[in-house]
Amino acid sequence: MPEQSAQQLAVQGIGAAPGVSIGPAVVLDVVEVVVPDLPNPAEAFAAATVEVHTELAKLSATARERGREEAAEVLEAQAQMAEDPMLTGAVEEKLGSGMSLGSAIEEASAELSAMLRNLDDPYLAARAADIEEVVDRVACNLAGVPPRQLDVGEPAVFVAVSLTAAETSQMDPEQVLGFVTETGGPTSHVVIIARSMGVPAVVGTGESVNAITTGETVTLDGQTGEVVFRPDETSLADFSARVERYEAAIVAAESWRGRQVNFGDAPISVAANVANQADLDRAIEEQADGIGLLRTEFLFLDRPSPPSEEEQYEFYAKAAAAFDAPVVIRTIDIGGDKPAEYLTIPGEENPFLGVRGARLYHHHEEVFETQIRAVLRAAAHGDVWMMAPMISTVDEIIDLRAWVKRVAAELGSKDADRVPIGAMVEVPALALTVDAAAEHLDFVSIGSNDLTQYTLAADRMNEDLGHLQDAMHPSVVALCDLVAAGAKRASISSSVCGLSAADPVAAAAYAAMGIDKLSVSASMVNLIKASVSELDPGPGSDAVSSAIRQPSAVAARAAIDAWRASG
Ligand code: PEP
Ligand code: MG
Repeated sequence: MPEQSAQQLAVQGIGAAPGVSIGPAVVLDVVEVVVPDLPNPAEAFAAATVEVHTELAKLSATARERGREEAAEVLEAQAQMAEDPMLTGAVEEKLGSGMSLGSAIEEASAELSAMLRNLDDPYLAARAADIEEVVDRVACNLAGVPPRQLDVGEPAVFVAVSLTAAETSQMDPEQVLGFVTETGGPTSHVVIIARSMGVPAVVGTGESVNAITTGETVTLDGQTGEVVFRPDETSLADFSARVERYEAAIVAAESWRGRQVNFGDAPISVAANVANQADLDRAIEEQADGIGLLRTEFLFLDRPSPPSEEEQYEFYAKAAAAFDAPVVIRTIDIGGDKPAEYLTIPGEENPFLGVRGARLYHHHEEVFETQIRAVLRAAAHGDVWMMAPMISTVDEIIDLRAWVKRVAAELGSKDADRVPIGAMVEVPALALTVDAAAEHLDFVSIGSNDLTQYTLAADRMNEDLGHLQDAMHPSVVALCDLVAAGAKRASISSSVCGLSAADPVAAAAYAAMGIDKLSVSASMVNLIKASVSELDPGPGSDAVSSAIRQPSAVAARAAIDAWRASG
């Protein structure tokens, strides 16, 4: 744990985007906005929303031109919110009851965001932050408050209570050494955008961000979440060494592009996770060993009705044709944090424990069958594998397998008949019955994000439970080891496609368990290959056994790290 000395202040946050940086801080202060009383407040508000809509739409277009697709999507959604009749209606109603413009805006924003948060739906809760950002922008427009100064002239670490999507999207990646924010969790906008910029981010540091002023030095490690304000010589030397190690790892990674990596004598694939066209492009560029997880939800979300068979087929076929290796297409994982109005079961108390993933298919058979057909047809263009999310029981597997086989028979193509059928292991029940499950499966893939959430009973979207979201907790490591061993006994392939596969420590543990594929975001493919290539397999399984016996994730990590360091 970092500690505090007289000069320096060491702070522990959540490591949210990888990389290590040392540089001057630029502290972005919270801006006080006072909306003036205007003669025609409703008209003034409406005019400001039109301007904000235009600004955000422009920022979105610029982000898209610069290849910053994630930022573009967030800004596009915010631009639409600026003109949402719910917002205008709420403000007009309050003005009608005699409220000042400033109070009407403040109350409308608070009400709308509270309503979204109270729906108990993590996806909509995240939209609450968007509403607040949009309304703040409208308030700044009315108050004539200029945007915060982001062009600082030299590369810097940006430190703030929070940063908006619009702000982060406008920053020049050359000028950003990293982000440190008081609030936010691993899924906040600043994190998504930091990752797309390739700079480190540490979020959720708490109020300690107030202890630094612009110009003072900051060091941060986006993997471990450690931040040091005004580092002393020892800390500076420590972080300089980390920077060197990280840079060396990037160089080593480059040398692995397109090469097969082995763990001992056994090949281990490092494939890419793909959730949209930009990810697919990057996976091709990084020469990933195929796609280990194609999240198909992006084709289904934010639209009023499901995509047609043709639309799906085109994307799946394009992805399949792009690789000489397997392309694992996951059938829709809607529900939980990813609702689609036309599919989700409304009014669930606990959507993450509800009709989510494969549990939804019999509620919408037509939608699922259309997807199966599109996936099976894409098999004519490459090595397509199909897998289902959120499977809990062997009966579900038997049912789904029979269903897919029926559709394949109807299609009557040899390619369709050959498509391997797998399941994600993200529910502890399935991990614990892996031998029985494997009899009906061609492969398994561990979804460590959900497996961690369900094993530790900690909602993965809840920022207050970030400390429990560690797939290196011995309980989760033990379940992964059971799955790997079960797959080996059944001679089927096993992979890990959750975020932990991109953590070099967890990846080492998975390799030692006998997992034969790691699937990570495309930008991490070659870093993970380089990291696996350095392992000495001999002591690996002892290290895993030791990790499983430890009392905590920290201790389990240390057990694996001791083995890695000895290699
Ligand atoms: C997982 O749960 O680990 C996983 C890969 O699926 P998702 O993150 O899409 O739920
Ligand atoms: Mg999952």
